[in-house]
Amino acid sequence: MRTPIIAGNWKMNKTIREAIQLVLAMKDELDAIQGIEKVLCPPFTALSAVKLLVAGSSIKVGAQDIFWEEKGAYTGEISPVMLKELCDYVIIGHSERRKYFGETDEGVNRKVKAALAHGLIPIICVGENLEENEAGLTEEVVTRQVKGALEGVPAHEVEKLVIAYEPVWAIGTGKPATPEGAQAVIGGTIRKLLAEMYGEGVARKVRIQYGGSVNPANIGGFIAQPDIDGALVGGASLRAKDFVEIIRMAAQVKSEA
Ligand code: PEP
Repeated sequence: MRTPIIAGNWKMNKTIREAIQLVLAMKDELDAIQGIEKVLCPPFTALSAVKLLVAGSSIKVGAQDIFWEEKGAYTGEISPVMLKELCDYVIIGHSERRKYFGETDEGVNRKVKAALAHGLIPIICVGENLEENEAGLTEEVVTRQVKGALEGVPAHEVEKLVIAYEPVWAIGTGKPATPEGAQAVIGGTIRKLLAEMYGEGVARKVRIQYGGSVNPANIGGFIAQPDIDGALVGGASLRAKDFVEIIRMAAQVKSEA
């Protein structure tokens, strides 16, 4: 019922020239894969070039952040109005933004509302850090982050958006969660919470990704879980062969399910 979505978060990597090379190296193969929504999230500087290259294909484009105001004296920021010309998706609340740039649940909420108001689909990142994980606080942290991000967002908007469960200890470490562990949080905490907040019907529609050291060898295990609707991929999305393989594997496992 939910179309899985796999997004590549390039983070602060790739010049415009490098971005063009990366897209050209995987565009045709990615375009040919069916049954999975494919999204590339390059840095702001490369959004325009990537959008032009994927025009007319099944590949979508996303940004890595957004500001909540439409325009004005906010030096260095990029508004939803500007992004709407360039992409369909926007990553909001990535743990690196929370850690290095002081992003709060309240800021995430303002960004989510601004994105939705302008027709952009937020990919909202949540996840506990190692300390919180070891202290048994995963459910508490993820619940607080989801509730905070969705404060005041109505059900008809919630069903459009994407949530990425990304345990911070699994990001860029080569130590992913187990598929069963990710399923427990995604199904047992996040989708359950959405059902409590918005009802079963809405909760069933929201796509929830897993993120954290996803690669071609482990994507099959994640995508086979009943509540995991794709992945947010960092490091492996910078390698054309790996990213294509991740999406191909996901499509295969889904088609066999
Ligand atoms: C990410 O940055 O969202 C991420 C999941 O990174 P990686 O795949 O490299 O762990």
